[in-house]
Amino acid sequence: MSAAFGTFFLPGPTEVRPEVLEAMARPMIGHRSAAFADLYERIDTGLRSVFRTARPVYCVTSSATGMMEMAIRGAPEGPILSLVNGAFAERFARIAQRCGRRTRVVSVPWGETHPLDLVEQHLAAESFSAMTVVHSETSTGAACALGPLTDLAHRYGVMILVDSVTGVGAMPVETDALGLDFILSGSQKALALPPGLGFGVASEAYILQASAVPERGRYLDPVEYEEAALRAGTPTTPALPLFYAAEAQMARIAAEGIEQRWARHAAMRRYTEQWVEAQRARGVAIGFLARPGERSDTISCLTLPTARSAREVVEGLAAQGFTIGRGYGAMQDSTIRIGHMGDHTVEGLSRCLEALGAVLAQ
Ligand SMILES: *Cc1c(COP(=O)(O)O)cnc(C)c1O
Repeated sequence: MSAAFGTFFLPGPTEVRPEVLEAMARPMIGHRSAAFADLYERIDTGLRSVFRTARPVYCVTSSATGMMEMAIRGAPEGPILSLVNGAFAERFARIAQRCGRRTRVVSVPWGETHPLDLVEQHLAAESFSAMTVVHSETSTGAACALGPLTDLAHRYGVMILVDSVTGVGAMPVETDALGLDFILSGSQKALALPPGLGFGVASEAYILQASAVPERGRYLDPVEYEEAALRAGTPTTPALPLFYAAEAQMARIAAEGIEQRWARHAAMRRYTEQWVEAQRARGVAIGFLARPGERSDTISCLTLPTARSAREVVEGLAAQGFTIGRGYGAMQDSTIRIGHMGDHTVEGLSRCLEALGAVLAQ
């Protein structure tokens, strides 16, 4: 038997509602059939309101890393500026390099975000075709403000490619209003679907120039996806069960309302902040890695008292029936990460944090 919903707080994959899992058991249909086109359109309609766009949302049978690669493959020819402040931002830069792009990496310490004047110095010093940025850095729990970065990039004629895998669907994202050139996500984080799908939106300007980029590959070519989206289909065989799950989840998200969903995640972040304050008042030396005002609404990365190890805390909490994550990379044992995203609630999170408080008090 599976545990009750509200116990699995990994920073990805996140917990999936049983009714969404059940939707995957439906029989197969042909992906060139009218029934599939209907299914595709229902998912696309839901995703457009999640991404706040009138553009088609590409649904790709790939994990989110594939979408990072797609964003790079179709980006205008020329050097790429990569803003790096954590493991996923670093991955985005590596992908650009491995796709043969000259890449300028601008790093700030993990847990921080890039000051605008630092970004502007680099934009002014060299000419770039595109800039990569991670909206909510899952390895550190830091979130950046997309609006000012987008305006800045556009002032220098540079396209902005955004990884919002733990942002969109949980934190305010206005794809069209901000003019994002490419924004991507994956199924298993903020959208609370099983792993295996990637989602992406390209601006009209991005897709127009992408057709002129040579060697875009085939499987992750954004132009193929744009053309397929116009026929309400996919260029290759889609992972149908995941599409069934996406349809069910889009209906749930529409019923909740995207703005209510944003509010629920902001409330979970605030609840965690208050809980950390209460722990500190009690003498437990934990804290956030990211600064106030720069914290993700979906991931809390907490620094532990020096005498505690993340492995031991995570195992202690597992014994109480809750799953959270250890830190990432060099911070694996000095931080813990709680993924309060997707379909989690303040109420469920409060039970997890109560159990965590007991483990920390030991
Ligand atoms: C999880 C994650 C990814 C990569 O996702 P995969 O589905 O494992 O490829 C990329 N970026 C961010 C910010 C993530 O949290």
